[in-house]
Amino acid sequence: MFADLAGKRVLITGSTAGIGLAIAKLFVTMGAKVAINGRSANAAAESALSELAAVGSKYDIVFLPADLTKTDECEKLVNAFVEKFGGMDVLINNAGGLGGRSSLENIDDDFYDHVMDLNARSALMVTRFSIPFLRESAKASGKTTSVISTGSIAAREGGGLGAGIYAASKAWLHNVHRNWVKEYTKDNIRFNIVSPGTIDTVFHADKSDELKDKIAGSIAFGRFGESAELAPSYAFFASHACSGYITGQILDVNGGQMCP
Ligand code: NAD
Repeated sequence: MFADLAGKRVLITGSTAGIGLAIAKLFVTMGAKVAINGRSANAAAESALSELAAVGSKYDIVFLPADLTKTDECEKLVNAFVEKFGGMDVLINNAGGLGGRSSLENIDDDFYDHVMDLNARSALMVTRFSIPFLRESAKASGKTTSVISTGSIAAREGGGLGAGIYAASKAWLHNVHRNWVKEYTKDNIRFNIVSPGTIDTVFHADKSDELKDKIAGSIAFGRFGESAELAPSYAFFASHACSGYITGQILDVNGGQMCP
């Protein structure tokens, strides 16, 4: 059923490592044309490109640098993607991160702006600039095109200590997707969220082993998830054949985690 992903033009933001890179690998394996993205060209981007070239055609893979906390770079990224591949079929808004921790009494404008820009503005603006191309592709193919954003269990549970703005930024994303469904279903564009639980990436680098064990104990499977275990859910939402009538949904992929 995933066969319709072959040849699809897929932009994956924040994909030089972790969950984004695992998604890129799966899509490249399925024959999609994939752009990965990170803030800037660096060793991580080079290494991600070589990992992807090992599983697919290097002509269908590109790295596009852009700092997505900035609106003008969101626009540049979408334009560079369309210039390379001639259009867009799937957008995956994965760029994001904790952006630091702060208790409520210490939050200042800079902290708030940084966390919201990283998780909310980035997805908002990349989606905004992508809409005309997703609409055009859906019209030309007669099938749906797809926007998938990475949410978080934190959006439902409030996040860990000091991570309230991060959690709220993901809740913002979970919510705004439902608004976009109302506006763009007429154009055959679908919007879904993959909401990870606790996944073993550098995201958790600031945690002690003791805290990691405690978190693992709150997960029914008793362990963190792997990025590769998340990737197929993105393929499901990207494929018109698999999910052409599914939009506005949030899929929890968390190993039975109830509250981190
Ligand atoms: P990660 O740090 O490995 O990946 C983050 C990616 O985003 C990297 O490729 C990085 O280069 C990119 N990025 C960061 N800032 C950027 C910017 N300003 N512009 C462009 N790209 C930028 O961490 P991850 O765990 O793979 O996180 C990926 C997504 O999953 C994030 O949105 C994160 O909030 C979300 N998430 C992660 C977990 C988890 O437990 N790991 C849980 C829930 C949600």
